[in-house]
Amino acid sequence: VNDLVTIIVQEDDTSKSFSLPKKLLVWHSSYFAAALDPEGWFAPSGSDKLQIDDDIGVFEAFSCWMYTGRLRDPPTLKMITDEGDEELGARYLAPLKLCQIWVFGDARGVPALKNAAIDMLHECLTVIWHTGPFKPTIKYIYRNTTDRSHLRKFLIDMHAWTRSFECFSKINRTVFTIDFVMEVMPIFIQRAQTGEPKIFTQKSWTKVDRCQWHDHSGPGGKLRLENRE
Ligand SMILES: [Zn+2]
Repeated sequence: VNDLVTIIVQEDDTSKSFSLPKKLLVWHSSYFAAALDPEGWFAPSGSDKLQIDDDIGVFEAFSCWMYTGRLRDPPTLKMITDEGDEELGARYLAPLKLCQIWVFGDARGVPALKNAAIDMLHECLTVIWHTGPFKPTIKYIYRNTTDRSHLRKFLIDMHAWTRSFECFSKINRTVFTIDFVMEVMPIFIQRAQTGEPKIFTQKSWTKVDRCQWHDHSGPGGKLRLENRE
């Protein structure tokens, strides 16, 4: 019942093995449900080992989240923010790492993991209330997500709805991509013309409904089973 599988995560020249309950993996992730299906084409029958190429830190967060429902576990994860704020660093993963976790959740079919990453991104901005630590996420998101992804929408919303144009225009342009600017600018232009949508204050941003950036399709592995039946 509590069968364990070993997932070997290979990142460049380093690898790390994770021993995880197969049931949990198969429930949460459509990718692992397929990869560990003894009748599937993916893994040899009865396989209890699987190697994947991925980011070890991201997989640590995924593993922590499966056990605890939280993305970070103080003894095992090093927390940083790009601004080097130690107090905040002790509470949040760096925004870029959170985006990598989201992309992992998307690739491996784990919708609820993506939502956990969105929630922490939202909370992190709520607390620090400046976009500095989010700078490296812009290029990363535009390279690793598709049009209309929830993560892109979050990124656009946070810049267009929580910053004034004056503030936005002071961001170093080398962190932008052209697609990002093309999506954000119309919102600023519309606001300049009509005064709508109103910019969020720190307090109102705290209360905004995060579900607009969530994927509510349910546990990835469960979905896969339902689709097969
Ligand atoms: Zn939701």
